[in-house]
Amino acid sequence: MSGNRTFTMIKPDAVGDGHIGAILHRINENGFKIVAMKYTKLSAEKAGEFYAIHRERPFFGELVAFMSSGPIVAVILEKENAVQSFRTLIGATNPAEAAPGTIRADFARNIGENAVHGSDSDENAQIESSFHFSGTEIFG
Ligand code: UDP
Ligand code: MG
Repeated sequence: MSGNRTFTMIKPDAVGDGHIGAILHRINENGFKIVAMKYTKLSAEKAGEFYAIHRERPFFGELVAFMSSGPIVAVILEKENAVQSFRTLIGATNPAEAAPGTIRADFARNIGENAVHGSDSDENAQIESSFHFSGTEIFG
């Protein structure tokens, strides 16, 4: 059975480009409810921890530098089948390959600076949510 929560970040590129409002609007328009939200900034150490699964990939250093380069918006979202539904809404990792109308197609700069994060499984949605929020900061 699939869960009803996922975790997202509006990444530093989209924050810097002034897209916070447009992206949150897109998220709400598509039936996701915001149950937790925080405007914050990751240290390089925290960004490395968050993306530890990609540690061995050639883009890891660049990814950590980018994700700690400016503020982000961390959000927990609720909707039926949230993880899969949100991955569909954000589109492919590379905006050049993202379906028209997806968040990455409309707001991302490139494959690295790609506007938003989206959890890839219920398990990771839970881990990533706990990484950013304590229980008292979540309003289901
Ligand atoms: N990334 C990158 N170059 C790549 C692939 C990924 O810089 O060739 C970055 C990009 O910001 C991506 C993140 O690493 O969102 C995590 O990669 P993943 O494959 O998990 O993509 P996602 O799940 O975000 O679509
Ligand atoms: Mg991923």
